[in-house]
Amino acid sequence: MDADIIVIGASPAGLMAARNACEKGSTVLLLEKKENIGNPPHPANSFFKGMFDKCGETVDPSYVVHYLKGMQIISPAGRIVEVETPGYAIDKTKFDICYMKKIIKIGVDLQKGVEAQNILRDGKTFSVKTSAGIFKSKLVIISDGVNSKITSFIGLKTMKHPGDIAWGIELEIRASDIGKSKMFEYYVGNHAPGWKTTYSPRGGDNASIGAYVRRCGKDATPYLNSWIEKFKKMKGLIDFEVVRKFSGGDPIVTLPNEFITDGIMVVGGAAGQSGIGYAMRAGQICGDVAADAIRKGDISRNSLSEYRKIWEKEFKVEHYIGRIGLETLRKMTDSEIDEMITVFEKENLSFIHGTSVEQAIQILAFMLKKKPSSILKCRALLRNK
Ligand SMILES: Cc1cc2nc3c(=O)[nH]c(=O)nc-3n(C[C@H](O)[C@H](O)[C@H](O)COP(=O)(O)OP(=O)(O)OC[C@H]3O[C@@H](n4cnc5c(N)ncnc54)[C@H](O)[C@@H]3O)c2cc1C
Repeated sequence: MDADIIVIGASPAGLMAARNACEKGSTVLLLEKKENIGNPPHPANSFFKGMFDKCGETVDPSYVVHYLKGMQIISPAGRIVEVETPGYAIDKTKFDICYMKKIIKIGVDLQKGVEAQNILRDGKTFSVKTSAGIFKSKLVIISDGVNSKITSFIGLKTMKHPGDIAWGIELEIRASDIGKSKMFEYYVGNHAPGWKTTYSPRGGDNASIGAYVRRCGKDATPYLNSWIEKFKKMKGLIDFEVVRKFSGGDPIVTLPNEFITDGIMVVGGAAGQSGIGYAMRAGQICGDVAADAIRKGDISRNSLSEYRKIWEKEFKVEHYIGRIGLETLRKMTDSEIDEMITVFEKENLSFIHGTSVEQAIQILAFMLKKKPSSILKCRALLRNK
């Protein structure tokens, strides 16, 4: 054996799975196809405190490039809902390196520039075929991202509604003072079907803008191009420099499906778990359960299903509520979105707290109290669109 556990992909989920399993006594080999961790970086470049708190990690200033005060959600007609909540624009390369150093320190064997190609099982041994030869382990964790090839090779259907992956393009831009704002801006409406366009200030002259759509193919370029023109007008910009361009898929509206089988666990984007903080928490659960299974000598699907149980307890309802919310948004007309947002405009929303179910109930109760007819806009979910 090269290790008790092989983790494929140094994604946020994979790094956490490797760390937790190692901390619980397993030997861990982490394979990453990039020659350098975090380079090129994944486009994910910000998070809000509430989301990062899910994984219980402390934000490290070494990778924060700009501190945010909150976010604005902006309707097609320009109505604004403001939510105050601390947020962080991050340098994703530094973020990944920060966690890489932590896992190396505790003894994870990280091998860079090694691409996993397939997994074969022979009795109690898994052989991971890679660009650098074959590595053997007792258990494999797959965290190779939303476009996971390895899960397809082994025939796992890890996501429900894969057609609902949001495809996004993000541009890092430079223009005088463009990054000074402290508010992240989300623009919703049919200019970005199924989700959003964004403006994310990154301090000084740096910002990032993006377009994310669903059910419109994998190339969001036309939506990004219209967004760029609108954005320039809104911010009074004649032009800006494009520093980098990123694109990718975000499984935010999919639902995790089959992410465990005998001796194999899937985590992060590959398992339909979106968002840095959420993927990291899933990685922690996965790593803990994997190490327990190795210690007990039982890597059966039944033994590993503890991962699913804990994950479902913490996140299943939130995933379903999130899907219902974004599906309703996708089906609403621009005027319905405007009307809905009017209910929350200029309101202090700090009363919304608790679990996702509690938050959903508080939001519905607020709508009922302020404008009962606004609830009817949620009927859009029933539309066959
Ligand atoms: C454009 C875009 C912007 C986003 N922005 C944000 C954001 O700001 N905040 C947020 O919280 N979430 C954001 N997300 C959501 C994001 O999908 C997740 O939060 C998460 O960061 C992605 O993690 P992942 O598990 O999909 O894996 P990835 O980060 O994609 O990591 C997979 C890793 O596996 C490696 N790998 C792949 N195949 C192999 C192989 N065969 N062998 C070895 N290694 C392999 C890759 O090189 C990579 O390092 C964004 C998504 C997109 C598409």
